[in-house]
Amino acid sequence: MSKITYRAAAYIRLSFTDDKSNESDSVQNQRNMLANFIEANADIELVSEFVDDGVSGIAFDRPAFKEMMAAVQDGEIDCIIVKDLSRFGREYIETGRYLRRILPSYGVRFIAINDNIDTLEDRGDDLVVGVKAIMNDAYCRDISVKTRSSLKAKRENGEYVGAVPIYGYMRVEGNKNQLVIDEYPASVVRDIYRMKRDGMSASKIADTLNSLGVLSPLRYKAAQARRNGDNTYKNTSDNTWTPKTVLRILAEENYTGTLVQARQSTFNYKIKDIVHKPRTEWVRTENAHEAIIQPAEFDLVQRIMRLDTRSSPAYGGVHLFSGVLICGCCGSRMVRKTNRYKGTEYLYYYCRTTKKDGCNLPMMREDELANCVLTSIKSHVANIASLDEVISKSSSQRVINALVNQIRTQIADNDEQRDTLNGYKATLYGNLVKGIITKDEHAALKTKFENDIQTLISANETLNAELAETLEGKSERLKWIEHFKHFETLTELDRRTVLNLVESITIKGKNSIKISFRYRSEFENALAALLGVPARAQRSGARGERRNDEVSEDLRQGANPSLSEVHSDEVA
Ligand SMILES: [Zn+2]
Repeated sequence: MSKITYRAAAYIRLSFTDDKSNESDSVQNQRNMLANFIEANADIELVSEFVDDGVSGIAFDRPAFKEMMAAVQDGEIDCIIVKDLSRFGREYIETGRYLRRILPSYGVRFIAINDNIDTLEDRGDDLVVGVKAIMNDAYCRDISVKTRSSLKAKRENGEYVGAVPIYGYMRVEGNKNQLVIDEYPASVVRDIYRMKRDGMSASKIADTLNSLGVLSPLRYKAAQARRNGDNTYKNTSDNTWTPKTVLRILAEENYTGTLVQARQSTFNYKIKDIVHKPRTEWVRTENAHEAIIQPAEFDLVQRIMRLDTRSSPAYGGVHLFSGVLICGCCGSRMVRKTNRYKGTEYLYYYCRTTKKDGCNLPMMREDELANCVLTSIKSHVANIASLDEVISKSSSQRVINALVNQIRTQIADNDEQRDTLNGYKATLYGNLVKGIITKDEHAALKTKFENDIQTLISANETLNAELAETLEGKSERLKWIEHFKHFETLTELDRRTVLNLVESITIKGKNSIKISFRYRSEFENALAALLGVPARAQRSGARGERRNDEVSEDLRQGANPSLSEVHSDEVA
């Protein structure tokens, strides 16, 4: 008799807040428990183990978690086992999405041993999963309980409470909590972002601004003050542009129109100094003021800066692939080095993990890689151009219909989630009375539900606007195609092109590289729409963030061959 065997991955997570002396959550303890469970279940075979050590369960971009999802997509595993649900995720909307939609769509069985969840036996009914996950989420927030203050209330209302307006903005007369664009500095801010996008370093940008005589923020402030009859500001030669000032402006999310406040606080139960709060705790209000920099451009610049800092300072600069190349063997970022042979210089990228530590990736020559990547980019851009052609010619109505369906599904899904949350909210008081939850938990959960409901409502407002636009045939969502088409006539590879088009390049061996292109989910959605396949890629929230992760690998199956080799090219 043949028996179905599940190829399982054991997923282990140790968060940085876990008490390391608490044995029950240690990596070894989780591992033992999973091993015992698998041993007791003959239909499950352990094929891999993924460990995220010191990583929070709120975000889902954990390295090992992502690797595991890649293995799911590749069909290597069809079962995920965790000790308890909180190991898998502590943020319930996203956890719910994985359990209800993403994993089932890949036919993956999910088991959380201590929570008695097993999707195969249908014990993982929504309510149990939902409530457990919510409790985990409430626990997450309890880690940092904040005192309420009128400042906090103002921040939450999207009112600006800073002492000085952000450079580029001024206060509205008569309302010191509202910002409007101050045109002179705002144009400087736009220039700075443009220069960064074109690959200039912060010090080069500062030099350029100084050489053009552009007033630095301090000098501008002094000039403004003098105009108002205040001569206390000194105009010293120190008030020139510095790389630090430039970097501060490049990292200022407020320029996107989202008011971001409470990024640091002076009180923390452990540290007395100013602490920079994790991004998840910042108070943000979208569309609080007019944007100087569009969110997509801001995101791109953040990425460029992240990659810049990862590059090796010893080589005095940023190279073609700095920060983008990933070792497919151990997952480290690869670094560049120069070798001289018979008077000629050769540039290489290599992985710093030694053979002894289990990595044996060969060195890669920069010129060979550049050729390879250029070829792939060209064919990717060509694919997108032909996709665009197909969309604009024969199937435009079909694509629009499919997009409309996608948006409508998402709206319905959000409504459903909102109903669920309302349901949970309605039972809260009863649970308090019955003693199932404490007063504090009641208050925390109520606030949380209300916030999440509000998020869903505004997400749907955005989606409805998008729906209207799509119906009129001028969808924002196809604009990314233009982004790629700018590069149609590409002949040489430069860093700006790499950063604009490529998310990452994984070197799997001497003859195998995998390129992840940006706007992958948009591409897949358009492709899916074109092929009449339901899109799997999760649409992101109201702000149009792009998620280039998890799903949709199988969308390529059966696709038009000229379009099927898209986002991850294996290049020989
Ligand atoms: Zn390596």
